[in-house]
Amino acid sequence: MILSIESSCDDSSIAITEIATKKVLYHKKISQEAQHSCYGGVVPELASRLHAVALPEILKETQPYFEKLKAIAVTNQPGLGVTLLEGIAMAKTLSTLLELPLIPVHHLKGHIYSLFIEKEATLPLLVLLISGGHTQVIRVESFEHMEILATSMDDSVGESFDKCAKMMGLGYPGGPLIEALALKGDENRFDLPVPLRNSPLIAFSLSGLKNAVRLHIEELGGSEGMSEQDRADLSASFQKAVKLHLLQKSKKIFAKEKIRDFAIVGGASANKYIRSAYQDLCDEFGKTMHVAPLEYCADNAAMIGRYALEAYKRNLFIDPNEIDIVSNKKQQNGMLL
Ligand code: ATP
Ligand code: FE
Repeated sequence: MILSIESSCDDSSIAITEIATKKVLYHKKISQEAQHSCYGGVVPELASRLHAVALPEILKETQPYFEKLKAIAVTNQPGLGVTLLEGIAMAKTLSTLLELPLIPVHHLKGHIYSLFIEKEATLPLLVLLISGGHTQVIRVESFEHMEILATSMDDSVGESFDKCAKMMGLGYPGGPLIEALALKGDENRFDLPVPLRNSPLIAFSLSGLKNAVRLHIEELGGSEGMSEQDRADLSASFQKAVKLHLLQKSKKIFAKEKIRDFAIVGGASANKYIRSAYQDLCDEFGKTMHVAPLEYCADNAAMIGRYALEAYKRNLFIDPNEIDIVSNKKQQNGMLL
């Protein structure tokens, strides 16, 4: 079995994955959303303190599995430095004390492997990663070869939902709040710009759209001057503009990429409105769409464990004294390392 730890942002999570069957035998996550909600976003130092309380609490429950462990895995990048270090400190201690090999896991690769927790791997795969810190289209040829085809120039999808929600006084995380409000709104009420609509660039940008939302909020008298209907209509119009932007750029990639399997991963892949738009796009291009089970879309240690299984087979271990929150390898052009 492998014990995996995730603490890259505001979720403290530990999982136990059985190597032979790839089954998740134990998985627990303690989310800090409620504690960060009043700030409209994650406060790193607070997150770090909360991990220091939650991780040992979860670890205690995994004690019955300790004898059968073959490796310890931990997210070491990318993420918030002070929160990653909480998970890393725990993983180093376990690896040293129990004399088990240590596996460093790239968080975004973990999101990609969330697809394979309950299903067998289908590679090659074209992946849209939409999360709190990233918007990327990645060609996943194999475990070793993941190439970034398009990336965000500024705010990520999840971040733009969070910031717009904060401006409307909705709380954190903004994604589920805006999606729920949008169901009650008129998506055609506000004419918001679809980012990079006339640009040949195959990239993502959401800060201009966020600014357009801010101007509408100001016109409506700020978050307090807005009615419930205003909030719902602006949420729906914003979500529609995000969808149109993602689809427009993805279409250009779909037209060039022959890979038949397509997947959406990351926290924002839980969004049903965006999922359904991509299902239509996949139907149009004859592609098969995949998503992870809802419980594994946002950050969790089960996806870190699933990736770690593959790393374990390949002996991709690191000395506990060498592990750090940045990769030792030099960034290679366009590759997800
Ligand atoms: P990264 O994975 O890039 O390091 P992260 O780990 O912070 O960032 P995730 O946990 O993958 O991000 O996703 C969290 C993000 O997903 C938040 O920004 C949240 O608002 C967004 N999100 C969650 N549910 C939805 C939804 N239904 N619609 C849109 N966004 C959503
Ligand atoms: Fe994440």
